[in-house]
Amino acid sequence: DDVVAAGASLDDREFEAALRPRTLNELIGQDRVREQLSLVLEAALARGASPDHVLLSGPPGLGKTTLAMIIAHQISAPLRLTSGPAIQHAGDLAAILSGITEGDVLFIDEIHRMSRPAEELLYMAMEDFRVDVVVGKGPGATAIPLEIPPFTVVGATTRAGLLPGPLRDRFGFTAQLDFYEPAELHSIVDRSARLLDLRITDDGGREIAGRSRGTPRIANRLLRRVRDYAQVRGDGTVDETSARAALELYEVDPLGLDRLDRAVLHALCSSFGGGPVGLSTLAVAVAEERETVEEVAEPFLVRLGFLARTPRGRVATPAAWEHLGLPVPATSTT
Ligand code: ADP
Repeated sequence: DDVVAAGASLDDREFEAALRPRTLNELIGQDRVREQLSLVLEAALARGASPDHVLLSGPPGLGKTTLAMIIAHQISAPLRLTSGPAIQHAGDLAAILSGITEGDVLFIDEIHRMSRPAEELLYMAMEDFRVDVVVGKGPGATAIPLEIPPFTVVGATTRAGLLPGPLRDRFGFTAQLDFYEPAELHSIVDRSARLLDLRITDDGGREIAGRSRGTPRIANRLLRRVRDYAQVRGDGTVDETSARAALELYEVDPLGLDRLDRAVLHALCSSFGGGPVGLSTLAVAVAEERETVEEVAEPFLVRLGFLARTPRGRVATPAAWEHLGLPVPATSTT
């Protein structure tokens, strides 16, 4: 199963699967996307046709896979799951396409990580429902036409801008998922607690929601850590006291910054004097992939107003220094 973030344990996956909303009505937040998508799906159902291809973009854990599953569920279509890194050769995609049946939903996670030849094959399939599969190499190569029944691609990517224009243009509907508001995360935590049969107080839910980095996946994970704590050290109730104590123990800071977020801020402020510093240099300093820093850590730091992306590089804002408990340098600018 390659749709779950790397590093997730089997436990995490089962837990995620159990908490996944199954319909658009069960989904919390993302109101505009929900309304737009429900129109797309209802119209397709009324026409008896496959819905337009859908592109979902946004940081990890905001509900892209969940939405793909909901789309398939709402139109009662089978869902096939794959991911960009699993499609390195055009042949990998041809094999998937040849197994498509009419009305299928094909979910491609991390669609920006497909190889170029596979990308080209995909956008032909999306447009014409027909591709030429090249078999063999050199002068002996032959193109075998492959007809594909109407189907719907749901692509997920951390940023729509990472996709080449021609592929992006094949999606009839694109949605950008944003970080969730604390009140929405609070509702998500309450819903999860209900599904897990946990006692939770209003303050406990609010504390977890506030430290969830705007991300439902993280809200659900933190809830699980607090549940453990409450069971072992308390009477099992998820309240403000158990939430605070557990989250401190797991080094989730009051704004929800995780280890990587803090490492990036520390490097930026302490090693590079607040910047500007290039993305690659910053990534080396925290021993992470450039993409991870850019797609995972930065969006939330930008959202909090701790980091700014400028033409000359990444810059720390005075709020970043304050959050780290460091004196704001007189020369710090944003
Ligand atoms: P992504 O594919 O964007 O990385 P997922 O769809 O896997 O994110 O969502 C991660 C987890 O967060 C899922 O287990 C799901 O239960 C939960 N989740 C995501 N969005 C919502 C939402 N809007 N309401 C409730 N739970 C959500």
